[in-house]
Amino acid sequence: MPLTRFAPSPTGYLHLGHAASAWAAWDDAGQSGENFILRIEDIDRTRCLPEFETATLEDLAWIGLTWQQPARRQSDHFSDYRKTLGELQNRNLLYPCFCTRKDIEQEIANSPSAPHGIDGPIYPGTCKHFSKSERNDKIASGHPYALRLDMEEAIRQTGTKTLYWYDRIKGQQSTTPELLMQSVGDVVLARKDTPASYHLCVTHDDALQQILLITRGEDLFHATHCHRLLQELLGYPVPEYHHHSLLTDKNGKRFAKRDKSLTLREIRNRGFQPESLRRMIEQNSLDELIFTNQ
Ligand code: GLU
Repeated sequence: MPLTRFAPSPTGYLHLGHAASAWAAWDDAGQSGENFILRIEDIDRTRCLPEFETATLEDLAWIGLTWQQPARRQSDHFSDYRKTLGELQNRNLLYPCFCTRKDIEQEIANSPSAPHGIDGPIYPGTCKHFSKSERNDKIASGHPYALRLDMEEAIRQTGTKTLYWYDRIKGQQSTTPELLMQSVGDVVLARKDTPASYHLCVTHDDALQQILLITRGEDLFHATHCHRLLQELLGYPVPEYHHHSLLTDKNGKRFAKRDKSLTLREIRNRGFQPESLRRMIEQNSLDELIFTNQ
């Protein structure tokens, strides 16, 4: 069985959707803690709280999961991410971006032909054109900045070759750095408020932890194209993927952390057993849970 992982962010209590996702990864690991890694993705130091991390571990143990010890906590490893960013920076693949969200909106509003990608308008490249001394002056005067991947440089360095990856549900997938330039643009690899980003950390850690199968929700399917480019740039291996469909309520709405009543702890407090919860998820018969709650 391949080594797989579950990688929650402790920004709230785990809910039904997390249980479904964790069980999907657990099944892919052959329901064995030896093949299963838990990673706490807590680089967002404002939204992630220790009490949610503790609750995450308790809730996952309650649904019957075990994992390799200890779980990796990303916030303990900022030095790893800094090193990787340094490597990309030395290869001219990053540039500092001082723009605020408002600056970007303004810039886009001023150029109606600004290209749109899958997540909305593409970053217009305002800060890309600063000279080295302009950048240094801004940094020296304390302007906060993010680090963006220079897609043009990435294309120069990887060539135009097609990058492949395989998804267990959707089959063979491919992308090219040029397509990524049009669909996501110069992605942020280190945020202003925290010296790393989801894309960077997840790609780094999956390689470091030698994950062979990445099981996660299909909401992250498009992010994988971007991760595939980072793997190429950083010489990381390419794992297999399993993007599972998301659990939804009767109206097709995804469960979210804001649906407090459907947290695993609330469900446990109401006396449900994990086995019956699992059965309800598998049979998509969640009415009992939702109804009990109203
Ligand atoms: N930490 C991410 C989340 O909680 C999941 C990341 C992943 O599985 O790649 O949404």
